Amino acid sequence: MSALLESLLTRIARTGPMTLADFMTESLLHPSHGYYTTRDPLGAAGDFTTAPEISQMFGELLGLWLAQVWMDQGAPAPFLLTELGPGRGTLMTDVLRATRAVPGFHDAARLHLVEVSPALRAKQTEALSGYEITFHDHLAGLPDGPLFLLANEFFDALPIRQFQRGEAGWHERMIGAENGRLIWGLGPESALEMLEDRLADTATGHIVEVNTPALPLAEDIGRRIATHGGAALIVDYGDAVSIGDTFQALKDHKPVDPLICPGEADLTAHVAFGPLAAAAAPARASAPTPQGVFLERLGITARAQRLAANLSGAALDAHISAHRRLTHGQEMGTLFKVMSLTPPDAALPPGLDPQVP
Ligand code: SAH
Repeated sequence: MSALLESLLTRIARTGPMTLADFMTESLLHPSHGYYTTRDPLGAAGDFTTAPEISQMFGELLGLWLAQVWMDQGAPAPFLLTELGPGRGTLMTDVLRATRAVPGFHDAARLHLVEVSPALRAKQTEALSGYEITFHDHLAGLPDGPLFLLANEFFDALPIRQFQRGEAGWHERMIGAENGRLIWGLGPESALEMLEDRLADTATGHIVEVNTPALPLAEDIGRRIATHGGAALIVDYGDAVSIGDTFQALKDHKPVDPLICPGEADLTAHVAFGPLAAAAAPARASAPTPQGVFLERLGITARAQRLAANLSGAALDAHISAHRRLTHGQEMGTLFKVMSLTPPDAALPPGLDPQVP
């Protein structure tokens, strides 16, 4: 039995079943046995892969997007160039390379990374050698100033709670123990004010998800951008609202039972963008725009063709399939959405659909 499973069983024996959010926090971030704390889970040899790991084009286009929005706001200097959960540092490396020729951008940028994993902080430091980095455990630790922020596959890793609709209220889905194994269960039924607005679009038995830490984070990002200027680009799988059970565990690129091997699989849930947009007010949110559409509007095809000119054989095939993976409707193009947050009086940034009122 893994050390983390043992510690979870002991905890449940002492204090009773735990919420899914507690389970996710322990599994992902436990100081000595947590999934992110102990390893670099990304890439072909890891458990999952992400857009910046698939192709350099993703980070290049996001970098040029940031630089364009920065110039549109009068090129404020200095500004915070921030990423939430930078993984291996690949996205930020591509952003910095693509923006090298943008006059004044590098001189004005102060690199602030929000990352809890010591293993990944080490990777990021290595990937970004030559740049001065300030690390933070939480966004709240950032100094004030114009904030230009990227978050790719960050919100999906935050702990969620799940509620199942009952006859007269909601049951929280809980994790308990039986015969040395973790099992699912339901908490007592109660009316929940925070789910009042979900009564209209759900029926008895339906599951809804609430990403508790995401809302104060979006609120903080929105307040900073509305006060000091800047922009945020949030990229993740999900949609405007959370529908059903989207909790999943991935190990070796395959779905696994999340209760079998805590701390050894990546745990995620789809992101509900609507509540993030509402929490970020008065900053202005775009609509969650499909990633494929966004990247096409930023010119990924022209960039792909330029890179393809120097490639042949297997490298060319890999490049073509990476382009497809990022943009195609049956790959990441539609499932993944991109949402921007900008100051209330700023124009809608490039590539994004306007929020539908
Ligand atoms: N953005 C990267 C990595 C995504 S994986 C990419 O696209 O490749 C999620 C990242 O968020 C990891 O770097 C992980 O360590 C970090 N992370 C997860 N939960 C976090 C939390 N609560 N606070 C800060 N960072 C967190």
